[in-house]
Amino acid sequence: MAKEKARKRILHSNVMVIGLGRFGSALARELMRTGHEVLGIDTDERIVQQMSLELTHTVKADTTEEGTLRELGVAEFDSAVVAIGADIEASILTTSLLLQLGVPNVWAKANSASHGVILKQLGCHHVIFPEAEMGKRVAHMVSGETLDYVSIDSDFVMVKTEVPSSFDGQTLAELKIRSTYGVTVVAVTTGDGKYVPAFPETVLNQGNQMVVAGQVEPLNEFCKIA
Ligand code: ATP
Repeated sequence: MAKEKARKRILHSNVMVIGLGRFGSALARELMRTGHEVLGIDTDERIVQQMSLELTHTVKADTTEEGTLRELGVAEFDSAVVAIGADIEASILTTSLLLQLGVPNVWAKANSASHGVILKQLGCHHVIFPEAEMGKRVAHMVSGETLDYVSIDSDFVMVKTEVPSSFDGQTLAELKIRSTYGVTVVAVTTGDGKYVPAFPETVLNQGNQMVVAGQVEPLNEFCKIA
């Protein structure tokens, strides 16, 4: 029962997105697309107008003012995302007020490592570094090592890569991928290019793609196999 309640909460949560710049507006649109209710807030009237038809509610307000946050009923929200980056003072003040007012999940975007340190010291639940994380991800794609690269935590990643020619026509069980390479093939594409879950009897074909998970070192070595 508790599990079902928690799931409902995630599926239909109310999220406040503060700062509707490029990052905040993209995030707010995606939350709407996935069925959440979104209150978008920005100090810029023009941006608030632009987003007003796309989000559940939009408000022009300065979130560094405690009274404004109280009036907006922030404590009623499941999550708040502080997507203010350039104005570090506004980001820190807003995050601190949201935490003080008891928002259960506060996410804040950091524009630099020191900005991130301060947000963490304030007790912010989730600090994100979109530029740094995206830069790292794209570097792996540009270098040609992988087709996509996602860090799960500091030593665990998931990559999208092509099936090497040396694996052609063999099953995952025959290749003993996990015991030989220390990584796990999670999904593979079939002839029509769609991903399906991988099983021990799944045959790998050259030219197809696979999603592989594992620790950074063994996964880097695995991606070098031709
Ligand atoms: P992005 O890269 O996502 O475009 P950014 O990192 O450059 O954003 P900013 O431009 O500082 O970040 O802020 C993003 C948005 O936050 C802007 O639209 C800005 O008007 C809004 N904003 C800044 N300060 C406040 C505040 N105190 N209250 C509400 N909104 C704010």
